[in-house]
Amino acid sequence: MKIHEYQGKEIFRRYGMATPRGIPAFNVDEAVKAAQALGGPVWVVKAQIHAGGRGKGGGVKLARSIDEVRDLSSQILGMQLVTHQTSPAGQKVRRLLIEDGADIRKELYIGMVVDRATQRVVLMASSEGGMDIEEVAAKTPEKIHKVFIDPATGLSTAEVDEVARKIGIPDASLPQARQMLQGLYRAFVEADASLAEINPLIVTGDGRIVALDAKLNFDSNALFRHPDIVEMRDLDEEDPAEIEASKYDLSYISLDGNIGCLVNGAGLAMATMDTIKLYGGEPANFLDVGGGATAEKVTEAFKIMLKNPGLKAILVNIFGGIMKCDTIAEGVIAASKAVGLSVPLVVRMKGTNEDLGRKILADSGLPIISANNMAEAAEKVVAAAKGT
Ligand code: ADP
Ligand code: MG
Repeated sequence: MKIHEYQGKEIFRRYGMATPRGIPAFNVDEAVKAAQALGGPVWVVKAQIHAGGRGKGGGVKLARSIDEVRDLSSQILGMQLVTHQTSPAGQKVRRLLIEDGADIRKELYIGMVVDRATQRVVLMASSEGGMDIEEVAAKTPEKIHKVFIDPATGLSTAEVDEVARKIGIPDASLPQARQMLQGLYRAFVEADASLAEINPLIVTGDGRIVALDAKLNFDSNALFRHPDIVEMRDLDEEDPAEIEASKYDLSYISLDGNIGCLVNGAGLAMATMDTIKLYGGEPANFLDVGGGATAEKVTEAFKIMLKNPGLKAILVNIFGGIMKCDTIAEGVIAASKAVGLSVPLVVRMKGTNEDLGRKILADSGLPIISANNMAEAAEKVVAAAKGT
């Protein structure tokens, strides 16, 4: 789960990490009041969407008067903000953060993720903050310093000092760097984060270390123990199809293609998408209906896929293990009838009772295209999507 920058900064402050003073605003009046409360003389008006690159996209602007805060706020609120992390259509801005303008001497980068290979949280730090860290990683990887943090001891002062010096934090600012990085590590672990990023972390003109941006993602599997974080969820920022799918316990991810996939098992779902691509098609979604898919779940899955106006065909790829193929066949028929299926449907089933399943499909009278293996299924669904 993702949250907004202003929410991330609220969490940072709980851990004693320095951020600019700031107030969220949901309309222009609130933005003006926030600016008045902060007092200036310089403010930054920041679009709050769940994507980075807002600065380059025109979603972060400096204001030198209350009037300017008002103008910029009305410009940014409601705009479709396009960044390299949004879809080409961009994301609608519904919230702002009005913040004190900081006196930036240096922009640094700090990130933390879980490193699967070492099974540790890895701290990444670079002197090259503010810009695309992906570009730094690709072109000058030596400028990214890593610390694999021992979970038994946490992030030590010695480790912080060493990495802080490497990225150009002056010695006089080391106590603040410790507070920032050790605070971030504690926040990361205690909140069950999966990713934390401060880009830029700045050194101010007077040597203070301040988090100017805040990005936190959380492990969805641990959210049950963080009701305060769940409250920060902003459904406006999430894909409606994915929200709908989560209500039925379906693992669904929207993609750009036109072939809907309904599969049981995440691995088989990935392999199915690969096979579709191998035959020149583009999947419209990832969908794992799970091991215990009922006719009701399959029906909901069809409904969600069919809401996509670009959908041209559907491929159902099921391995009947615990669930028998005849049960699936009945579910597919019930679902097709319930939703009034309007696109070609290719079904490939393998496993327990597959012959019976295929017979049920054939006898249903529905125009279902049957396939005997994955290659054939992919070939047929790609052809169906192209209308050939
Ligand atoms: P994004 O990463 O989405 O572009 P940031 O919060 O990193 O958004 O802001 C982009 C840039 O805007 C920063 O690199 C910084 O130069 C500037 N900026 C952001 N917040 C402030 C602030 N409070 N004061 C001064 N400059 C800021
Ligand atoms: Mg940033």
